[in-house]
Amino acid sequence: MFQNILEEIYQEVKPLILNGQQADYIPELAKTDPLKFAISLTSTDGKHYDVGHTDEKFSLQSIAKVFAFTLAYKIKGDAVFKHVGVEPSGDPFNSLIQLEQEDGFPRNPLINAGALAVCDILISELKNPEKELLQFIQKLAGHPDINYNHKVYESEKATGYKNRALIHLMKSFDRIQNDTGPVLDLYFKLCSVEMTTRELSQTFLLYANHGQLPLSGEQILTKSQTKRTNAIMQTCGFYDEAGEFSFRVGLPGKSGVGGGIAALHPGRYAVAVWSPPLNSKGNSVKGMKALELLTTKLGWSIF
Ligand code: GLN
Repeated sequence: MFQNILEEIYQEVKPLILNGQQADYIPELAKTDPLKFAISLTSTDGKHYDVGHTDEKFSLQSIAKVFAFTLAYKIKGDAVFKHVGVEPSGDPFNSLIQLEQEDGFPRNPLINAGALAVCDILISELKNPEKELLQFIQKLAGHPDINYNHKVYESEKATGYKNRALIHLMKSFDRIQNDTGPVLDLYFKLCSVEMTTRELSQTFLLYANHGQLPLSGEQILTKSQTKRTNAIMQTCGFYDEAGEFSFRVGLPGKSGVGGGIAALHPGRYAVAVWSPPLNSKGNSVKGMKALELLTTKLGWSIF
């Protein structure tokens, strides 16, 4: 059933001429082919269903914020929420406005300010944050070859002025414990992680599987922490388009400016889609359409 539905979606979405453009504020991302499209679904019984360019790695960008948050939540438990909130921002992912009005306390871990606060926690808690964060993501993915993309990292590091502004604003409110340089560095590394849609849907299965890694059986987050993480994705995963994504798709998920979206149906499946052109909110145009078609055709959403 899943395979047929993915193929139908591919045929329906592929010819659509939708307005959208690759992210170009990170120059390396502007080079991606706008015609690439891939969708992979992994069901909780471990079966994979793939259509399109599912073997090509793409830049996870903000999707990887979910993994950094997962590690910080695992290490610190509820104490993580002293550093970052759980409210949707309703603002663009890199907005400074709310942060200034709210004493430098980031609304949630999935906007840039929140992910920077999470990276600050990881630097405080880990001996070798860059290595341990990557190893953690590799473990979630069940793939030891998942890696940072050096070119994308360098490209964002050279141009990431908004993120520098965000972290300095937080630092001015005494919200950042470490030097800003290493925190930014870890954040840019995190955003540069790349995966195929197949690897990403496998990695997201954890959140559909009550916090347990499907391959090894290891419990990464408790059931309650997993539900809460999913709730944060549902309300905050698409920034100022979180309402639209809930309305059209009805699943917890997370987007990134590399053109990827990962989403999940608790107890049933995880899905990853990739198509580089983005709408004005930084979300993949065809990715959103594909997931809307998926939950419509399946007749299931979480609502
Ligand atoms: N690395 C990107 C940034 O910080 C991530 C943004 C995104 O994917 N929404 O701007």
